[in-house]
Amino acid sequence: MKGLAGKNALITGASSGIGQAIAIRLAQEGCNIAINYRKTVEEAETTEEIALQKACGQVNDCGVKSLLVQGDVSKEEDILNMINTTIDQFGSLDILINNAGVQTESPSHEIEVDEFDRILSINLRGAFLCAREAIKHFIARNQPGTIINISSVHEVIPRPSYLTYSMSKGGMGNLTKTLALEYADRGIRVNAIAPGATITPINEAWTEDSEQKAIVESHIPMGRAGTSEEMAAAVAFLASSEAAYITGQTLFIDGGLTLYADFRESWS
Ligand code: NAD
Repeated sequence: MKGLAGKNALITGASSGIGQAIAIRLAQEGCNIAINYRKTVEEAETTEEIALQKACGQVNDCGVKSLLVQGDVSKEEDILNMINTTIDQFGSLDILINNAGVQTESPSHEIEVDEFDRILSINLRGAFLCAREAIKHFIARNQPGTIINISSVHEVIPRPSYLTYSMSKGGMGNLTKTLALEYADRGIRVNAIAPGATITPINEAWTEDSEQKAIVESHIPMGRAGTSEEMAAAVAFLASSEAAYITGQTLFIDGGLTLYADFRESWS
């Protein structure tokens, strides 16, 4: 895709699932990638290894640089360190991917305040703080920059027993639009993708169980779950100069899940 080669990207939560696929895809497009991980460096190293292998093939050094940055996006000091390390190592930051996210299931009337704060501080406050620091850098450099938030179909579809997750993704939709409007005149684009059911570790409860998987997929008009690579392809497009006139949008990538599938059949 046009305009990605040589750009510097930071991807949060890039040691598994969609974040890992985004890091790999951006490296394949010629971006330098800063791979954020929270706990397990070995998983981040796997992302790095696959990304460089796919980007460079047999060539030892094809010019794509990579960096592993430990950090918990619910901690402001970790975010400052993550962004500063990326800028120090790569010289600048052009693309921020707010991907890190968690979900828990609980009846809403039983959610403890600590758990409420934990989910919101990772999924929403973390995305805001990363965006804030990236935008400060874009403005200080007086260069364009782009942010892509990994939202969810639950940005618009309410999900009982997943209140904190749904709230965080709903908030992410507004974060995307508000930042896009506020900084559009400074060449900063802010967009989101909203994956539907995607085969990643966050969904082990049903992806590893063929009966559960069939139930989930029966609700998807296209009849199957999505892949991390399909999400990464859309992120690469939104980050590229092919999407230069797109800002403030959430692109739903869900096999038709947000199309009110119950209307496929007549109710009368
Ligand atoms: P995943 O569990 O593989 O990825 C989540 C990543 O976030 C992990 O690498 C994890 O280590 C990281 N993370 C969690 N807490 C963190 C923290 N405090 N600091 C830094 N990193 C942290 O699952 P995934 O499906 O790849 O999820 C990636 C994103 O996609 C999430 O934001 C999720 O909400 C979103 N999403 C996923 C689906 C799906 O069906 N898989 C659907 C819609 C949206």
